[in-house]
Amino acid sequence: MRCFIYKIFIFLFVRFDITLKENKRCLMRVICKKEQDVGLALQKRDLPPPPKDDEVQVRVTHVGICGTDLHIYNWDDWAKNRLKPPVVAGHEMVGVIVKVGQAVTKYSVGQRVSVECHKVCGICRYCRTGRGHLCFKTSIIGVDEDGVFADYVNLPVSNIWGVDDGIPSHHAAIFDPVGNAMHAVSKAGVAGHSVLITGAGAIGLISIAIARSLGARHISVIEPQSYKLSLAKELGADIALPPGQEANAAILKATGGFGPHCLIEMSGHEKAIENGLDLLQLGGTAVMLGIPSDKISIDLAQSVIFKGITMKGIVGREMFKTWFEVESFMLKNPDAVEKIVSHILPFESYEEGFKLMQQGLCAKVILKLEEDA
Ligand SMILES: [Zn+2]
Ligand SMILES: [Zn+2]
Repeated sequence: MRCFIYKIFIFLFVRFDITLKENKRCLMRVICKKEQDVGLALQKRDLPPPPKDDEVQVRVTHVGICGTDLHIYNWDDWAKNRLKPPVVAGHEMVGVIVKVGQAVTKYSVGQRVSVECHKVCGICRYCRTGRGHLCFKTSIIGVDEDGVFADYVNLPVSNIWGVDDGIPSHHAAIFDPVGNAMHAVSKAGVAGHSVLITGAGAIGLISIAIARSLGARHISVIEPQSYKLSLAKELGADIALPPGQEANAAILKATGGFGPHCLIEMSGHEKAIENGLDLLQLGGTAVMLGIPSDKISIDLAQSVIFKGITMKGIVGREMFKTWFEVESFMLKNPDAVEKIVSHILPFESYEEGFKLMQQGLCAKVILKLEEDA
């Protein structure tokens, strides 16, 4: 009998201890690709461990929903081939440092930071020649490993970007996509030239303002969605029309019959690429950032070779040249960045954000993790 009471006592004590530990266990929210299926799930997870020597721990305040996240949400062929669930999504963010690793000297607790989502090796041929964005060992946060759709993340100090006090957090959250646009537009060499932007998603839209700030003479935009066309006009496009003969005729007329000197291709659509290359003037430059969902065919001889076109693929951001350029752009053009941020929603309303993305009724959707952030 005594033994039985003793066992009950031990059992109750152990239960009590587990309950106590569970209550003490701090959990955080994450938006996660739980399994190999459509959608993303809001889940609770343990807080990250203390940061390693060369890491900082960040309390995330704002995240951006990217086209990449939409691919992951939709679980399309690209996502199926690339992701290994469970993975926390998200790679566009800003937050506040809450802990620093022992070897971190440049950053301190309380500092606002964003992150370059491409983690690179730092020692390969590409990294050592200043082309880290091409590193063949790149691991992308929120794609190849857990991302920033979380209350807290540990991030390597080599990828951290200290945010200037003059840049509000809901702008700083989109350093990454503005960086894609900056990288593309700066490679197109737009100063003094006429520019055609095909595809006016968030990156295409911000490219208008960047092209303008870099001295473009005339900017045309071809985009099917009327919501985005009116934003394109607001951002300074001289011509913003849906694809078709009217757009082509207007662009040719505005460029003296020659066609634009620069094509900035942001749509990834075969027809848009074909049409953009057709419109481009002889000797022009085409920068390609939109990713086709499948193999496409173009008439290489007629559209590129005989036209003497220079074609450049754009991937990621130049580390960290592009970041300095974006910082400068954001400080000087806050109104343009404000127009790109079309929606700010609570973190837990992410489904609404993805719906807006699916419908094309937004530019950039930001999720806010804290009420007062
Ligand atoms: Zn992105
Ligand atoms: Zn490398």
